[in-house]
Order: sequence, then C-alpha cells, then structure tokens
Amino acid sequence: MAVIPIKVFPAPVLRKKAKKVGIIDRSTLKLIDDMIDTMHSAHGAGLAAPQVGVSLRVIVAAEPDEEPVCLINPEIVRKGEEAVMEEGCLSIPGYRGELKRCVSVTVKGLDRRRKPVRVKAEGLLAQALQHEIDHLNGVLFIDLVSPDKLKKIEPEPQPEAEAASSG
Ligand code: ZN
Repeated sequence: MAVIPIKVFPAPVLRKKAKKVGIIDRSTLKLIDDMIDTMHSAHGAGLAAPQVGVSLRVIVAAEPDEEPVCLINPEIVRKGEEAVMEEGCLSIPGYRGELKRCVSVTVKGLDRRRKPVRVKAEGLLAQALQHEIDHLNGVLFIDLVSPDKLKKIEPEPQPEAEAASSG
C-alpha cells in the first residue's frame, strides 16, 4: 500500500474518459489499496483512479469512521432529488463551490472480489460517489459550478474544511 501523488488540474488525465476495467487482477487490487491510502492521507471523502494518473473506471469513497466503499466500473442506477451542496476536489486545491447534486443515489458496480454490488448512499457519501463518477467521464466540479459560486479558499484550510472535501 502506498500514497500516490494526486494529479492536479489541468493534468490531461483528469479530462480523459476512463476505460472500463476488463480483468480485475492484482494490479487492480493494488490500485484500490493505494487509492484508499491516498484518500485517507489527503483527508478526502473520495478518489477516482484518474486522480492518481490511472485512466480506469475505479473509485473509492468513505464517510468519516466508515469502511471505505470501492467500486469498479460504477454506474448510477437511481437518483434522488437534487439539492444545492458545497464541495471541493483534491485535484483542484484552494477552491470550493456550490452546485446541484442528488441527495441520494444507488450505484452499481463490482467490488474487489469481482462480485456485482449495489451501494445505496445518501448525504456526503452520495455526493462523493457522484463527484467520483464524474471524474471517470472527465468532468470536474468546476464544470458544474456557476462562476459566481466558485470561491477561493485559504491555501491551508482548517482540518474540518479539509475533511469535507470530496476527492
Ligand atoms: Zn475530485
């Protein structure tokens, strides 16, 4: 397990549509472990593989003190109502913004044992899953924020603010 340097906007890999994972092998599992370490080390709520330079459809997300969720080839299959939420991104340090996200989502994908799973999420986890799946399509939160709702934050945020950052 290792912490991988996070790619920062405008790294080209962040704008590429990530490829589906064909065979889940050791390298996929190592990638997931490294992504979880990297997410924790950066105090993020989630992370997508392109953020560590790997253009594959793999995401991890976690709520504080909960077991991280990892999904391979994730797809949103159900969406709840939309609400305005604030978020940031580990690949766009120093900015936060308000945008619309669904308050709940159901996401299907494969888990690390190659088993099809459905994750029903709400709140912060639902927000993180939408943010991370956007990353797999080359979409960044700044694309969804109206320019007047994007704000620059202090270069060294407080730990609370950092903990609320999505991947
Ligand atoms: Zn992000």
